[in-house]
Amino acid sequence: TENLLIRSEKLSMAGQLAAGIAHEIRNPLTSIKGFFQLIKKNEHSDLFYKIIEEELSKIEQISSELLILAKPHSEVRQSHSIYQLIEDVTFLLESQAIIKNIIIKTNYENTNMKIQCEDTKIKQVLINLIKNAIEVMDSGTININVKEKNHCALISITDEGNGMSESSLKKLGEPFYTTKPKGTGLGLLVCYKIIENHGGTICVDSTLGQGTTFTVKLPLN
Ligand code: ADP
Ligand code: MG
Repeated sequence: TENLLIRSEKLSMAGQLAAGIAHEIRNPLTSIKGFFQLIKKNEHSDLFYKIIEEELSKIEQISSELLILAKPHSEVRQSHSIYQLIEDVTFLLESQAIIKNIIIKTNYENTNMKIQCEDTKIKQVLINLIKNAIEVMDSGTININVKEKNHCALISITDEGNGMSESSLKKLGEPFYTTKPKGTGLGLLVCYKIIENHGGTICVDSTLGQGTTFTVKLPLN
């Protein structure tokens, strides 16, 4: 019956996800184990310690992102100013941007918009999106534009990176899809999940060779 079909589909989805997780965590573990054995032989241990530390960070990052995905609700929501959330996050990321000669510009249609949310979760989304923007640029400007439309806040983050092809766009949000050597491919999935939990949506608009805009839409108070 239909019910059974859904169940078996869900089970195989869980199986696929489990296989994906096992694979993503096993790679850095294998590498750590290998370098650990080399260290025991006292060879080039400084470099090996550095690699091991990086691989451990990756496992840590994957685990914490999976935890966010696994834990849906149970959060305390309060009224927060969008202006303040964005100012806090851009302040936090300013130094990372400056190192790469990137300027983060903000533009608010009005600074009074408020949303009901868990502030740390929405900050996490903004950090993930702005970090992705920083990571695809060598220099230039990231524009954050905030406006109000139909009782919703529209927060758009526009970068001057290389944009994405149609086929890359289709893969966005797939677990573990990453084009970065140190990426986890879970950041956007975490963003989608958090925004969905807050009754909002995320849209993406990208032009190859020009850049990408992610737009987060959230219902206002
Ligand atoms: P990660 O950053 O760890 O790779 P994400 O889920 O944040 O994982 O992003 C997945 C992939 O989507 C990135 O590796 C990159 O290929 C693509 N991507 C995300 N944001 C952008 C962007 N602003 N411009 C171009 N590509 C992007
Ligand atoms: Mg990312």
